[in-house]
Amino acid sequence: MAFEKKTVRDIDVDGKRVLMRVDFNVPLEDGKITDDTRIKAAIPTITYLVDHGAKVVLMSHLGRPKGDGPEPELSLKPAAEKLADLTGFDVTFVDDTYGDKAKKAVDAMEPGQIVVLENVRFDKREKKNDPEIAKKLSELGDIFVLDAFGTAHRAQGSVVGPAAYLPAVAGFLLEKEVDTLTSIFKNPARPFVAIVGGSKVSSKIGVLDHLLDSVDTLIIGGGMAYTFFLAKGYTVGESLQEPDWVEPAKQMMEKAKKNGVKLLLPIDTVVADHYGPDAVGEVVPSSAIPDDRMGMDIGPETAKLYADAIAGAATVFWNGPMGVFEFDQFSDGTRAVAEAVADNEDCTSIIGGGDSVAALNKFALADKMSWISTGGGASMELVEGKELPGVEALQDK
Ligand code: ADP
Ligand code: MG
Repeated sequence: MAFEKKTVRDIDVDGKRVLMRVDFNVPLEDGKITDDTRIKAAIPTITYLVDHGAKVVLMSHLGRPKGDGPEPELSLKPAAEKLADLTGFDVTFVDDTYGDKAKKAVDAMEPGQIVVLENVRFDKREKKNDPEIAKKLSELGDIFVLDAFGTAHRAQGSVVGPAAYLPAVAGFLLEKEVDTLTSIFKNPARPFVAIVGGSKVSSKIGVLDHLLDSVDTLIIGGGMAYTFFLAKGYTVGESLQEPDWVEPAKQMMEKAKKNGVKLLLPIDTVVADHYGPDAVGEVVPSSAIPDDRMGMDIGPETAKLYADAIAGAATVFWNGPMGVFEFDQFSDGTRAVAEAVADNEDCTSIIGGGDSVAALNKFALADKMSWISTGGGASMELVEGKELPGVEALQDK
């Protein structure tokens, strides 16, 4: 499927003030950016706009401010500086979002210049999508561009608001993310293998449900596996479990059968007697988890089984680690899966989810994947088959 919304390519930006919502919600430690992936991801659209003579006005949220005014430690200033470092463009930061200072800074712009506005969430009306906010923001632009894939699932002031007042189009990151994460469900190269892990069934049920309509094989790992074990009648000791989700897990297993989807669950499990960096692992059959132990990772037999399934895949979607990969002794299962995806060079591999990406970075395998989504929640909503409010608000092609 081609992306059905207009993009910056479909509109004349020359000499125009382009108000662009980006996702500069980067992790900070002591005022320093520890991961600039999200800033880098916005650069192709910013570069296009600069090259085409636009005055580029950037806005974003950062962290979780209270919404009662400026919080210096959550300022976008470091992000603006990082953008200048990375691109060499003429970037000005203004410590105002839509007041007089912001207006003045934008009025003084020349084509090719960039202004970064202050954190949109310093005002609590942003999250409530207050029309006042939308109006004020839209006065800073002639065109609205949404490139903040990571917040495109939130109907908030700076994400959807300006689209009511200005011609609204997508940036390249948004286009690529939406295209990639929806096209795998339209006409995937087969076999299509999905790997879903992480902590809870409850947070991924929509994802599992939608995947079962498309995939050939669904691989389950991580903490959610134990709720599936309960659904199979196993006991799981002290493992993470969600008793209220046993019934939905059963329904997923039935749906898999009905749809002819091969559902793979761990056949062996690495257990420990407590959760912690010093915990020692022991491999047991998944049907024999002792009462005083908890599951921490998939076992080596399972890792082999999963790697075989992945080796034969033409399309892979992966979300959620196979175990508590943060502790090295329980990272083998996740590593085995990551390596299997990396080794299958012919497949299209699409990765979503913050912790899955962290795991890939830990194993230095991120550059072997076809596409790593920059948006956790937004990518999950696309994989659940939902429309993103930010995308819906844009102009149709
Ligand atoms: P993602 O961010 O990739 O979507 P999730 O947030 O759903 O992934 O889950 C990641 C978390 O799941 C990690 O912190 C990991 O430690 C945890 N997890 C994985 N396996 C287990 C397990 N067996 N028991 C408890 N937690 C687990
Ligand atoms: Mg996570």
